[in-house]
Amino acid sequence: MGTATGKKILIIEDEQDIVQLVQHYLQKEGFRSVTATSGIEAVKKVKEEKPDLIILDLMLPELDGLEVCKRVRSNPDTALLPIIMLTAKAEESDTIVGLELGADDYVTKPFSPKALIARVKALLRRLDRAPSSGAELYQYGALTMTPARHEVTLEQQEIPLTAKEFGLLEHLLRHRGRVLTREVLLNAVWGYDYYGTTRTVDVHIRRLKQKLPLLEDAIVAVKSLGYKLKDSD
Ligand code: CA
Repeated sequence: MGTATGKKILIIEDEQDIVQLVQHYLQKEGFRSVTATSGIEAVKKVKEEKPDLIILDLMLPELDGLEVCKRVRSNPDTALLPIIMLTAKAEESDTIVGLELGADDYVTKPFSPKALIARVKALLRRLDRAPSSGAELYQYGALTMTPARHEVTLEQQEIPLTAKEFGLLEHLLRHRGRVLTREVLLNAVWGYDYYGTTRTVDVHIRRLKQKLPLLEDAIVAVKSLGYKLKDSD
């Protein structure tokens, strides 16, 4: 079975010809698709349709693509939804902003539908390979985490971590390559009933970097949003 089987893609774009073209190619490859033609509709459809991946155009009426991306990422239910952003060549600086705001990949217009579908498949494949919750072991360079033993080693040397530092690192390792907002990290590690502020996350990230120097450059701050552990491949 290919990556396409049964997967539902939400296409968010106001240009009808592009929507139809992309839909046609997705269908041909065995994907299901739903569409939204404005930012407001997009936010609604993300909730209602629970797509497996979204193709998000940057230029949209009402809310633009960046705002849609930000809202999707800030909601814990959809924080990890894969997003491919469509941008125009003239908007290169927006492309960078798009990736900073948490798109997983982007395709520049004009694009070939085949190339777009290839990106969709590649992204879904990459995420399928991601370690699952409760994995026995996480490896990241010289770092190894064994959740069952609550153990983290760096070059075979055990590094003592507090429970929260451990939880935070596990979440980052499991979702490496993805942008995680402070709210999402706070909910995942401290829980919904925690009353602290998102600054707590910053403090713990700093401590993790002090204890594990290889994370210094590997955990990057994503402007106004949160953090990402670089994918080590
Ligand atoms: Ca558009």
